[in-house]
Amino acid sequence: MLRIDRIALREIRLALKEPFRISSGIVHDRRIALLELTDRDGASVFSECVAFQLPNYSSETIDTAWHALREWLVPRVLGRELTDPAVVHALLDENIKGHNMAKAALEMGCWGLAAEAAQVPLSRLLGGTRDRVPTGISIGIQSEPAALAARAQAAVAAGYRKIKVKIRPGQDVDYVRAVRTALGGGIGVMADANSAYTLADSEQLGRLDAFDLIMLEQPLGDDDLVRHATLQRRMTTPICLDESITSVDRAEDMIALRSGRIVNIKPGRVGGFSASKAIHDVCESAGIPVWCGGMLESGIGRAYNVALASLPNFSLPGDLSPSARYWHRDVVTPEWTMDDDGMVHVPTRPGLGITVDREFLDSLTVRTEELSARPTMVAVG
Ligand SMILES: [Mg+2]
Repeated sequence: MLRIDRIALREIRLALKEPFRISSGIVHDRRIALLELTDRDGASVFSECVAFQLPNYSSETIDTAWHALREWLVPRVLGRELTDPAVVHALLDENIKGHNMAKAALEMGCWGLAAEAAQVPLSRLLGGTRDRVPTGISIGIQSEPAALAARAQAAVAAGYRKIKVKIRPGQDVDYVRAVRTALGGGIGVMADANSAYTLADSEQLGRLDAFDLIMLEQPLGDDDLVRHATLQRRMTTPICLDESITSVDRAEDMIALRSGRIVNIKPGRVGGFSASKAIHDVCESAGIPVWCGGMLESGIGRAYNVALASLPNFSLPGDLSPSARYWHRDVVTPEWTMDDDGMVHVPTRPGLGITVDREFLDSLTVRTEELSARPTMVAVG
C-alpha cells in the first residue's frame, strides 16, 4: 500500500549546450518542473514534467502543468491509500480532461516511489525485459544541408544507432538527401516534421521515399489521423505518429485507420506509464513497433524513459541521448552515458536507479511550492 504524505514542486532552469530548433520553435534554456514525492515512511523520489515553456508541441506549458498539479491533481493523491500505482491514472483522469503532462509527472512519480518502496528497479516493476536500450539522436534544424550532414556523421561516429533529423517546409528534401549521401546506406535515418505540413505537401513529402528512411514522424496535424492515413497510402516510407497519439484510444484509431505504422511513445504526452503500457500492448498485438521519444528531459526524466523503453516492443532505438548531448552538467550522478555499441544501460538498482545531485539542483531552482491536500500556496522561492 502506497501513501504519499508530501509533494513539493520546483522549477529549475537548465541551460542547453546549444539551442535546439524544431519546426515550431527554438529552445535555449530548458525550464523544467520537478515533483518530489515522499511516502509515509520517508522514502522519496523526484519525477519530471516534460511540458515546455510555450504551447508549441502540445497545448500544455510548464505553467499550466504547475496550476493543474496544485489545484486539481495533487489533492487527489496526497494522503490517500493507493493499492498500486496502476490505479493512479484513472484517479487523475476522472472528470479532468487533458493536462496529460501534468498527470504524467504525478503518475510516474507514484510508479517511481512504488519501485523505491518495494526495492525493485522501476523497469522491472513496469514489466521491462531489456538490460540495454539502443540509443538514437535527434538533431535540430541546421542552417545548411552540409551542416546537418556533418552533425549526422559525427553522431554515427559517436555510436548512435539511429539518426533523426528535424525538418520543416523549405528545409526538408535537400537536408535529408545530404544526410543519406553522407552516411551511405547502412545506418537508420528518419525525419521528424512536428506537424509542420499539410496534405497539399504530399508530393514534396513523397520525395523523401527516395532516401530509405526508417520512418517519417508526424508530418501532419497533431489531431489529424484521417489525413495521415491518406498520406500513408501515398508514401512507401512508414509514418510514425508522435503528437497525435495522446491515449490508447488514439493508438487504436491509428491502427484501424492505418494512419501510421510506428508509434513514438512519450509517457508525458499520454498521461504516464499506465497509458504508455496500454499503448505498447495494443501496438504489439497489431505488429506495430514503438520507440521512446524525448522532450529535452534532465537526467531525472531520462530514468523514467529508459525504464519504459526496456519493455519488449520498444524495438526501435529511443531518443535517449547521454546527458552530455544536451547539458553542460546533468542533475544526476553519475550522468547518463552510452556504451560503445550505442546502448544505454537500464539501471539495476532499486527504484529509479539514479542519484540526484541535490546541491546542484538547489542551485538551479528558481521557485518551489509545497503542495497540500487542499490547494494552498505555502512558499515561493
Ligand atoms: Mg516527434
